Amino acid sequence: DDWDAAVAAVRRLPPDGRVLLVCHVNPDGDALGSMLGFGLGLRRLGVRQIQATFPDPPEVPEPFRGLPGLELLVPAAAADPAPDLVICFDAASVSRLGELADRLAGPGTALVLDHHASNTGFGDVNLVDPAAAATSVVAEELLARLGVALDAGIAECLYVALSTDTGSFRFDATTPAVHEMAARLLATGIRPGDISRRVFDSRPFGAVRLFGEVLGRARLEPEAATGHGLVWTYATLDDLARHEQRPYVLEALIDPVRCTAEADVSCVVKQTGPREWAVSLRSKGATDVSRVAVALGGGGHRLAAGFTGRGTVDEVVERIRVELAVPAPGGGADRRG
Ligand code: 5GP
Ligand code: MN
Ligand code: MN
Repeated sequence: DDWDAAVAAVRRLPPDGRVLLVCHVNPDGDALGSMLGFGLGLRRLGVRQIQATFPDPPEVPEPFRGLPGLELLVPAAAADPAPDLVICFDAASVSRLGELADRLAGPGTALVLDHHASNTGFGDVNLVDPAAAATSVVAEELLARLGVALDAGIAECLYVALSTDTGSFRFDATTPAVHEMAARLLATGIRPGDISRRVFDSRPFGAVRLFGEVLGRARLEPEAATGHGLVWTYATLDDLARHEQRPYVLEALIDPVRCTAEADVSCVVKQTGPREWAVSLRSKGATDVSRVAVALGGGGHRLAAGFTGRGTVDEVVERIRVELAVPAPGGGADRRG
């Protein structure tokens, strides 16, 4: 099966085999954590030539700058053009790999590890489990099948991946198996308090002030999302500049916004260019936001999705309102994804 094919692809690497690990653009904790954790596992297997990379910009967000395995990272421009094995983490389609997409099409084997239901199956071997809480669940399983024992470095990477994608073990994907995996990771001696403080509970004072300003302009629209409510706000490049903040600090902004009790759907519109916006969508359960994101050219999961919007903020939000006004197939009560 696919697991056997994936194990075989790693095992048949020549002694000096070159491996390139890639993950999606603007990597989050799952993308970086599963990629670097797997890279450290390959190193334990004796693989010597390992590069890890992601599309430009090459910046690692501050919350992840303490991750073990960062020394494997190279800029996309320096990534091996023809590796023997390419392994892709947490990307649902090649469009999420930017200029690295061509590495998947080379003569080497392409192995895809992911958990998006919308994954297009773009690898030679695809380990895609939509039921998995994070790509790191798939990565841990493959490491186990390769006979790699967890050490603290691998475990810390996989723990960051698992805890970020489950919202610190709060989302419904947090199954008994997720806690069992967390227990295996913690048994290596990693410190969850230290890790969580770095990853979740640390941001520059300028970002705190920026959040205050951006949250202060949030709008609640109770009639939107077929009566379940929409809350949204936006942040411009000028906001970032005035507070001297890097774009990735805005990744955490969706969390205080989605706390809004009166809205099922929450949305943060983040400017990335003159008329370009990265849009984050979340639902508490009544709305399939991946349907909205896919309709607007993006993708994601039923309760967490995103897309790239063009035009003005008002134009982007109006398109979201229009999509949210379309009832789910089979009626608004349909909660299947
Ligand atoms: P976030 O809001 O955290 O950036 O993204 C939430 C989820 O939506 C991610 O897990 C990712 O799968 C998906 N997503 C976000 N932005 C995009 C996008 O521009 N294109 C696609 N295809 N998926 C996206
Ligand atoms: Mn991700
Ligand atoms: Mn993920």
